[in-house]
Amino acid sequence: MVFFTADQERFRDSVRDFTHRELSPRAGERAELDHILPEVIQTIAGAGYLGLTTPGRYGGNPTDCVSIGILFEEISTIDFAPMPLLLNHVMIPLMLRWSSEAFQIEWLPLLCSGRKIPCFGNTEPDCGSDAGAIKAKAVRDGDSYILSGEKTSVSVGMQADVLLMTAKMSESAGPKGITCFFVPLHLPGINRQRFVDMGAHPHGRAAIALDEVRVPAEYRIGEEGEGFTKIMRGLDFCRVLAVLGGIGMAQASLNDAIDHLKSRQAFGHPIGKFEGVSFRLAEDDTHLHAARLLCYQALKLRDEGLRHTKEAAMAKWFGAQYAARAIHNALLALGWRGYSRSNDTERRFRDAFGLQIGDGTAEIMKLIISREILGSEFGAAF
Ligand SMILES: Cc1cc2nc3c(=O)[nH]c(=O)nc-3n(C[C@H](O)[C@H](O)[C@H](O)COP(=O)(O)OP(=O)(O)OC[C@H]3O[C@@H](n4cnc5c(N)ncnc54)[C@H](O)[C@@H]3O)c2cc1C
Repeated sequence: MVFFTADQERFRDSVRDFTHRELSPRAGERAELDHILPEVIQTIAGAGYLGLTTPGRYGGNPTDCVSIGILFEEISTIDFAPMPLLLNHVMIPLMLRWSSEAFQIEWLPLLCSGRKIPCFGNTEPDCGSDAGAIKAKAVRDGDSYILSGEKTSVSVGMQADVLLMTAKMSESAGPKGITCFFVPLHLPGINRQRFVDMGAHPHGRAAIALDEVRVPAEYRIGEEGEGFTKIMRGLDFCRVLAVLGGIGMAQASLNDAIDHLKSRQAFGHPIGKFEGVSFRLAEDDTHLHAARLLCYQALKLRDEGLRHTKEAAMAKWFGAQYAARAIHNALLALGWRGYSRSNDTERRFRDAFGLQIGDGTAEIMKLIISREILGSEFGAAF
């Protein structure tokens, strides 16, 4: 990529080495599991990849946002299973900056070392895109809060030890009434249920019900009513990283298709000689290249401390759509092989679909982009 620095190029090489050495063996087998293997989590933690947004004094390994994007793209090229684990370890330490020093000293080393797995829950059975319309309730009771409600579609929700969730202090409050809480998932009153998903099985999506769960007041993250804006700023970052995961997967399938089109013969020629397939390849390669540029531009803006809400939404909409399309086309190019459960592109086809929904759909991204262009009075309240 033209604008990577020498350090970022070196980081890419080191991640590539790591993924080929540590993640490539048996990645296909692990993709069939319903959880991320603890030894894989430990290997990733050992490389320092779970502490990329955590200061060194809490056991982290702070890294620039472009390099974090490189990590997501490279790892997903080989193994998509750890993607939400990595995402949660980016987002949740960023949120914990708004907790007390003692709380950060207690929790951040546990997260960075992979001894505790976090997950994030805003979506509820009755609301997803309209993220400010949540109903989960928090009631202050002396030195505690009592939380009730249901979070759903929570990635890694079955495996996680802690949930960063949103709740409202008053039912009639809008987005400005949303507060964040950090909830250990062993507490009484918590019930989890697994989703049986189309793809990404190791991500173990869950519905998490909370029935009067009591957490100490210091488990509130940020002030009351400050949760929504903080989460939306975090999502600007995470949706770009998620899409780079999709681009990594799509590139891997495109590479498989290229090999096939060069070697497979039909009608006396390698199939790559036929423009019906080679033009599709040209389009997919162009779309992925454009998507990558959008992603890394958004991350560079973030590194420079500049607003990147519009660029992140562009990257998410465009990148998720064209990554899924490139995998679809690669599967077609592979013919009968691609349709088999034993083929990586078949799995990527199912895995990449969810990226078009999680972290915000295309329509919601377009609402954000148009609001950023026209002004907030033209957009929904995010
Ligand atoms: C793989 C995956 C992982 C996920 N992980 C998490 C997680 O870890 N934590 C979490 O909290 N959530 C997670 N989600 C949930 C995700 O964030 C929501 O699914 C998403 O925000 C969309 O919400 P919804 O599914 O309720 O759709 P809805 O909001 O019900 O929307 C349904 C359809 O209507 C469209 N639509 C809605 N409003 C408008 C509008 N104003 N204009 C035009 N079209 C509109 C949407 O684009 C969509 O196509 C995950 C979802 C998936 C698929």
